[in-house]
Order: sequence, then C-alpha cells, then structure tokens
Amino acid sequence: ALYAPSRRNSRGLDFADRQTLRTLAADMNRIGARAPWNGGPLCGGRLRTGHGHGVYAPSDRGREVGRVTWAGDEDLETALAAAHQAWTDWDERPPAQRAAILDRVADLLEQHTAELMVLCVEEAGKTLRDAQAEVREAVDFCRYYAAQVRERFIRPLSLPGVTGERNELTLRGRGVFLCISPWNFPLAIFTGQVTAALAAGNGVIAKPAEQASLVAVRATQLMHQAGVPVNVLHCLPGRGEEIGPRLVADPRIAGVAFTGSTETARLIHRGLAAREHGPIVPLIAETGGINAMVVDATALHEQVVTDILRSAFFSAGQRCSALRVLCVQETVAEPLLEMLKGAMDTLVVGDPHWLSTDVGPVIDDRALAALQAHDEEMRRKDRLLHRARLSGGCERGSFMIPSLYRLERLDELPGEVFGPMLHVLRWRTGELDGLIRQINATGYGLTLGIHSRIDAVVHRLARQARVGNTYVNRDMVGAVVGSQPFGGEGLSGTGFKAGGPHYLLRFATERVLTVNT
Ligand code: GLU
Repeated sequence: ALYAPSRRNSRGLDFADRQTLRTLAADMNRIGARAPWNGGPLCGGRLRTGHGHGVYAPSDRGREVGRVTWAGDEDLETALAAAHQAWTDWDERPPAQRAAILDRVADLLEQHTAELMVLCVEEAGKTLRDAQAEVREAVDFCRYYAAQVRERFIRPLSLPGVTGERNELTLRGRGVFLCISPWNFPLAIFTGQVTAALAAGNGVIAKPAEQASLVAVRATQLMHQAGVPVNVLHCLPGRGEEIGPRLVADPRIAGVAFTGSTETARLIHRGLAAREHGPIVPLIAETGGINAMVVDATALHEQVVTDILRSAFFSAGQRCSALRVLCVQETVAEPLLEMLKGAMDTLVVGDPHWLSTDVGPVIDDRALAALQAHDEEMRRKDRLLHRARLSGGCERGSFMIPSLYRLERLDELPGEVFGPMLHVLRWRTGELDGLIRQINATGYGLTLGIHSRIDAVVHRLARQARVGNTYVNRDMVGAVVGSQPFGGEGLSGTGFKAGGPHYLLRFATERVLTVNT
C-alpha cells in the first residue's frame, strides 16, 4: 500500500515561465539591495548583533554580504535556561496545535522564497536552482512532519490487555534538542532538524554552520512569527569547535541531531558519552559518503552522462549524496568517458546569480584548498583525465573546476572528497561481486547509483550494497521528502531517515499508560 500522509510537497517556482522569472528577479534584486545583513544569537526572540565576523560571498571573496555576531557564554546560558524551562509547556500542548504551527512555518517560508533564496546564493554560493530547491525542501519538511504529528502523536496507540485493563502508548518530547546543521543545506537541513525536534514536542537550541548562519537566523525568526514560542526555539551561531563541546556537555541537552562530517559525529558521540550528569541521550547523525555509481554495458549512455553531471558536479559536488566514484564496465568505458568529457565541456561553471549557471563556487577558500591539494596529488600520479572550463568573472571566488580522474583501486581515495571531482574506476566482466565488496568495505553507506537494463544485475547490486539510498537508472541526488527518505548507515550515519516515516520517533520518547478500569 502507498504510504502518503495527507499533505502536498511544495510546487516551487516554474523557471520555464518568463513572468515567474521576472517577478523573482525583481524581488531578489530588491532584497539583495538590503545587503549587508546582520546576524547573531537569537535567544528568547531577541536578536543580538554587534560588530561581528564578516561573511563573504563564496562567488566573490572581496564582497562582504553581512556580519554575524557569534554566541558567547551568556547567550548559551540564556538559551539553555529558557528552553529547559519552556519545553514542557510545548510538549503538553495538544499535538494538533504544534502541527498547525509547523504548517504556518511552511507557509511563511514559502512566502519568503525570494529572500531566503538571496541569502542562500549570497552566503552559501548556491545556484538559483539549488537555492529554490532549498526553500522547497525546507517547506516540505515542515508539512511532512506536521502530517506525521497528526498521524502518530495525537491519538494514543491502543494496545491489548487483560479484561478490565486499558493500555495506551503515546509519543512525547524528550527535552531540549541540540540541532547542529551543515553549510551545504543551510536552510533545508537546518529547518528539517529543527522542525522534527519541535514536532515531537522538544525545545530546540539550533547551532547552524558558521559559514552560513544568516539564513538560519532568518528562518528562526520566521518560525517564531509562525507561532513557535520564542523561549522554545533559540538559534546560536558560532564556531562549532568552541560552542559545540559546551552545548554537548550540558546536562540540559536531551538529544542531539547532527549533520556534517563523520569525524565531528564521533566527537559529539564521545562528548555525550563523557557526560557525568543529565540524561542518557540519543545522537541522530547524518554524515558523509564515498558514493559510487555502477554502470554496466547495457546502460544508455546519454542518460548515464546526464545523470553523472547532475550527481557529481551540480551543487559543486557539495552534497553528501553526491557521486564520487564512477564504476564503469571496461567494454563501454572508452565511448562513455568520451561522451562525458564532451558533456563536461558544456557545463557553465561560474556566477551563481545567473540562471544559466550549472556549477557555482565551493563554500570557502579552506574547502577550495583541500580540493586543490587532492587535485595536485591526483595530477602527481598522472590521473587527471579531463577538466571542465571556468566562465569569466570568477577570479575572486572560491571556484573548483569540475574534474575527472582515473582510479586504479577504490581504496586509493583518501576519504570523502567534498567537491566537483569525479573518479573513474573500470571493472571487467565477472568482477561485479568484488566491486560491491570494495564499495561496502569503505565502511560508508549513503547512496549508490546503478545504471543497467538487466533486472538480475540491478537486484543483485541493490541487495548486496549496504547503503541507505539506491537509485536505479537515474541521478542519485536530491532526495524528495516523503518519497525518498534520506540517510545512510555505517560511517554515513545512524538513521532514522530525514523526510521519512520513522524520523520523528528518534526525537520522541514513548510512554505507556495502563489503567485498571
Ligand atoms: N538530501 C540531499 C540529497 O539527497 C543530500 C543531503 C546532504 O548533503 O547532507 O541530495
């Protein structure tokens, strides 16, 4: 049976419609003229701004788009004390009220699409298409979790009992959740974590990534405007290394939702384990991947090439779901790679403000330096196969040109390479099982792409691969809320999957009421 809790995903904007584009451009220009923006800790509904730290556009490092004041000890204490005191009222409200507020959050985010897009483009270097996908996904998370609340939190689950006994199971909030979100989806994942925690009846301390906190602060304001009590939800921008450990150690934190690197997830895990006071708390982590696409001789080349471009290079490869290793059957490798190189030459790499841009900048110069170091190492080994071209006007931005490299073995990769860099591994007929073993042996398990017209091959690979999301004969990014619940296993995360039917359960606690009637 189809599992589709009653709600609709956001329609988004139709970029093919000229009038829509004209209105969007006018709105974005008007809002863009308000730069620079000021952000800072938003505690108890009060935004504290000051001189702060400069936020520079990834597409033009010389342009300051805003300043953000980072949260200090006092902000942390104010937020923790207020959330700790306020969350129980939120949890005791009729769940339908929480659901209605989340639906209002969705409406408000949708109404502020242009503004949120501007912030995603300016602060995170998102292309226009990616920026609008951010808003849509954020909106979808709100409505999906609101529907989940209505389905699972309102009516207790009646359980059997002996005669004269009534048993009821209800889901309730756990306390104050710490939500630590990444810069690569500064609006969508931020909103997804926060609204899931709120939906289940928790208070929230949100700690957005320091590279992109302006949009998170703005989204928090909209959540308050929609009716989330100001003492229930607080946003604390700051450097993860500084405030992360202090928040994790605090006994008032009853759960952590984290999306980011595997190393940081381990640090948080250790921090939680070392706590001497406070509850024993869950960590919901969504981390990296070394994601492969397996292509056999029966695949349709045109389609494979289109799907590779989208999966490996769009979003500047800065999705944890992105394709990193293309595993192609030897017999078709030459023609397929030739076609791929030609297609890479058509990519528009450049200014994210232009609708025609396919690939924008990476997040900052530090990320760029790490990618360039990997590129140098690959070139030293003579592995560079091809490079796309950079459009003009990119001199002052953090741009990594989409590049293609040859691998001899999968374990040559140093780890997750988080940018528009694709590695090719060839396999021979009869080596498929060994290949899947190598992919599993990375320990990561996030996404897998399969391109094959042979059902038996598809089923074998899908059964053997230990990954969270497998995509067959299509691209392997852009999971849709409610349709492709997203998240991995092993080094890639703990589950449950974001945008899926079980996610809220990780944010909740179960209570059973037994009444002798
Ligand atoms: N959900 C995103 C996708 O399916 C990726 C999320 C991430 O990069 O953390 O592409």
